Amino acid sequence: MYIDHFIAQNYRNLSLIDTHFDPNINIFIGKNAQGKTNLLEAVYFLALTRSHRTSNDRELIAFDQDYTNLMGQIHKEQRELDLRVLITKKGKKVWINRVEQSKLSSYVGQLNAILFSPEDLELIKGAPGLRRKFMDQEFGQVSSEYLYFAAKYRQVLQQKNNYLKQLMKGQAKDQLFLDVLSDQLAGIAAEVISRRYRFLGYLSKSATEAYHNISLASEELTLEYVSSVSEITATDSTEQIYQKLLTAFQKNRAVELKRGTTLVGPHRDDLEFRLNDQDAHLYASQGQQRTIALSLKLAEIQLVHQITGEYPLLLLDDVMSELDHGRQSALLSYIHGKTQTFITTTDLEGISWEIIKQPKIYQIK
Ligand code: ATP
Ligand code: MG
Repeated sequence: MYIDHFIAQNYRNLSLIDTHFDPNINIFIGKNAQGKTNLLEAVYFLALTRSHRTSNDRELIAFDQDYTNLMGQIHKEQRELDLRVLITKKGKKVWINRVEQSKLSSYVGQLNAILFSPEDLELIKGAPGLRRKFMDQEFGQVSSEYLYFAAKYRQVLQQKNNYLKQLMKGQAKDQLFLDVLSDQLAGIAAEVISRRYRFLGYLSKSATEAYHNISLASEELTLEYVSSVSEITATDSTEQIYQKLLTAFQKNRAVELKRGTTLVGPHRDDLEFRLNDQDAHLYASQGQQRTIALSLKLAEIQLVHQITGEYPLLLLDDVMSELDHGRQSALLSYIHGKTQTFITTTDLEGISWEIIKQPKIYQIK
């Protein structure tokens, strides 16, 4: 899939962009603070209705304006699609083919985009919450069922935690209701976890391959799901996961009642990256961690392709300057001809562009 006609109005410092993107490679070149990342973010927002930099949509509206408007004409394998997002100070609205969608979930997934920026290193180095967010975002993009179960899980978890707090403070007494909530939560959690295992299985295979291709080294990258219930394994069925979660909830009940919160479940699980079977979070070098993060993004491209039959857009923010010559070439040849790619850079020099045939170059000023 690719974006052809693209319009952005009042998006941060970009008052009006109206252009036809190249189906293959688009390069945004410019000095610092000209709007390169803003343009990339606008494309990302059109796809996902959220920014990678902020959760406050108001920040996206140009300083002296009341709204920002994004439109894109999308070409997929068999059809064309018009997407539109309007952000005002009151909220956002979305349209598919000029029909307003009442739910964001029916809009997200029409256009897929994978973004890589220097902050993605945090995915390897940072706290587990970031990796859970990663899984929720990326798997939600390819599966509306995942999106549904993950949202439902958050909702029922909140309900159960609220009730645990009421029991803790003596404002409630009925433990039977806690059983009902625990049972419901375990059911939804099992749906989330089994999908995480499945999608991670796909992702792991492609990530290993991408790492091998870019690093040109003999190290092996593997991805592992770490459940907060140690009895749960990759080969369990959804029903088995449900049973094991129920048992864990039972076992933890006394502590949960004391703390007023749920101690195990998808909201406490983690994802581990291993290089030659060593935890990359602890042992990998900066360059290795960067290559892992990049491999993960490239693996996501394969995942989206595997599930939707279409290659997503690839957005690379300030990535080239951080890679050595060999890795740059390996990256460019890996993506070339597959995905519509957007690359920001302050400098065209020093990058091995010869691999790309006729990119469209935008000077951002
Ligand atoms: P760098 O090379 O440093 O990464 P960049 O070209 O990627 O630069 P951007 O992050 O796109 O730069 O930001 C460009 C400018 O947009 C910044 O100077 C910032 O102050 C401005 N900006 C951010 N939000 C808004 C907004 N809501 N309204 C107007 N301008 C904004
Ligand atoms: Mg930038």
